[in-house]
Amino acid sequence: MERTITRAGYVLRLCRYIKGMKIYLALSVLFNLLFKLTPIVIGLVTAYLINAAVLGDIRYLWQTFAVICALIVLSAIFAYLDVLVSHDMAYRILAQLRDTAYDKIDELAPAAMEGEHSAALTSIVLEDVEQLEWFYAHVIGQLIVAIVIPSAALLFLGYCSPVLPLALIPFIVLMVAVPVFFAKKANTQGVNVKECYAELNARIVDGVQGMKDIISFGWQDTFFARFEKALRAHQDAQMAYAVRSGEESRRFLLVMGLGSLCGELTAAILTVTGRLDAVWLIPVFQLCGAIFGPLQDALTMSTNYGLIFGAAKRLFHLLERKPAVQDTPDSREMHLKNEEPVTVAFENVGFAYPSESENACEPVLKNFSFSFSTGETVALVGASGSGKTTVSRLLQRFWDVDGGSIRINGTDIRNVKLDSLRDLITVVPQEVYLFHLSVTENLRLAKADASMEEIEEAAKAAQADAFIHRLPKGYDTLLGERGLRLSGGEKQRISIAQAFLKNAPVLVLDEASANLDSETERQVNLAVNRLKKGRATLVIAHRVSTIKSADRIIVLHDGIAEAEGTYAELMEQCAYFRRLVGGEDYGEA
Ligand code: ADP
Ligand code: MG
Repeated sequence: MERTITRAGYVLRLCRYIKGMKIYLALSVLFNLLFKLTPIVIGLVTAYLINAAVLGDIRYLWQTFAVICALIVLSAIFAYLDVLVSHDMAYRILAQLRDTAYDKIDELAPAAMEGEHSAALTSIVLEDVEQLEWFYAHVIGQLIVAIVIPSAALLFLGYCSPVLPLALIPFIVLMVAVPVFFAKKANTQGVNVKECYAELNARIVDGVQGMKDIISFGWQDTFFARFEKALRAHQDAQMAYAVRSGEESRRFLLVMGLGSLCGELTAAILTVTGRLDAVWLIPVFQLCGAIFGPLQDALTMSTNYGLIFGAAKRLFHLLERKPAVQDTPDSREMHLKNEEPVTVAFENVGFAYPSESENACEPVLKNFSFSFSTGETVALVGASGSGKTTVSRLLQRFWDVDGGSIRINGTDIRNVKLDSLRDLITVVPQEVYLFHLSVTENLRLAKADASMEEIEEAAKAAQADAFIHRLPKGYDTLLGERGLRLSGGEKQRISIAQAFLKNAPVLVLDEASANLDSETERQVNLAVNRLKKGRATLVIAHRVSTIKSADRIIVLHDGIAEAEGTYAELMEQCAYFRRLVGGEDYGEA
């Protein structure tokens, strides 16, 4: 069940981020107030001038003119300061919100990233937070001004004649009632616009990133149709939003017009019947219009509350999510001294992926036990989808096991601080992701303070130094999405060089299933064999050659370790293993 938060609730939560910026807020409200007030004062002084002129009193004509001129200049200065201070505050808060949202994503990752489109998360950090600029730079100030100025004007009118406020108040109430009446619809529509936008964004990102495949498989029509559908949905959502917002404006503009008219009529009648001094007539007329100005500003912005609160809802939803694993006060650091041998043991591990829906996921691991220690290489084999990658994720504690335990030198990894645990383990993944950074910077991710000598040494050990030197700018060449694209074998060797730099005692190699040419494979194998020395190595093997060279092999089948032994032993004893390595998952490359 989703908890619905009222607008007041959102306002309160959004206001929490103003903490520490109260002076900015106070100044921005003050300047906004002064900026809105000056035209009213100018109007009043002008009205006074006209009245005096009509009555033939021109004593203070020039002085009054001078005051009006000064007020005009001040009004411009206030407008400038209002925009400056309110946006300075808003942008500071937005930066802070983005920081918080990004930290949250970092905390939730990687478990929460599964089944989540990266574009949807990006759009929360970028667009939804951007939308909140309206709230911080405009809404707060406008709301306060919309309360202060009409109240002051009502007091002044009441001083002229108590009947005047009575004539105006019903219209003010009606005006404010309009957005209240539409609030629910506006919120729903706002969330809908945001969701359609996120969907459209995801379609575009998919289409651009997958362009190569789309073209080579001839999927253009299908993709275009999907894109078109998302586009229409977004357009419809925006249109529905605009229609409602127009309807709101129509209503409160109507009420506002009728309100001023009613106030003016009342003033005219009061004057004619001698209950209001004629001197006040024009100022009162002026105020009857001006009283609605700040209200109109605030209400016009309120037609956007749907979008603002829609954005807030998505942001808070993200911030409220609980990470799959977390350090507890009892978590301890775990450091192994140099050369201290390490044993990783899975003991009767059971695990099912957490399910979003009612139906629980099938358990991937049921009662899985195995171990590997420093100095040996254990190969994990199993059919595709049997849970090999899951084993490596559980070891890094992306999720916690449901049953049994994973222990490093006897310590349950649930009691080890996450950072400290992940320092102990290096994973050379199947698909290496390189960042849009130079080769050096990509390598330094593994060891922030690595010297250039260390980096080159690691690259040499990983058989990567030679090809790095052949890159256009050598170690300074930019890699990644917008940089130079390396081949699969080259990426792997960069990853192996990172592993050398990180120099962790436990090594998990998720072997690439894609075939490498024999020379590249020779180089990668050379690098891997060097890397494995002195570490506890688990290889998620995809090649028979790798399986053959392992010290021990674990056959993962149906959530348990079905068999264990050397290649020769298993070929002799385990029919399932024979079928597996003879099957299509294990090509002799
Ligand atoms: P392998 O690496 O052996 O091919 P995996 O460990 O990737 O297998 O996956 C094991 C099973 O878990 C598969 O059935 C897969 O569909 C499922 N699975 C993997 N990741 C998730 C996830 N995030 N949520 C739910 N099920 C998952
Ligand atoms: Mg896998």
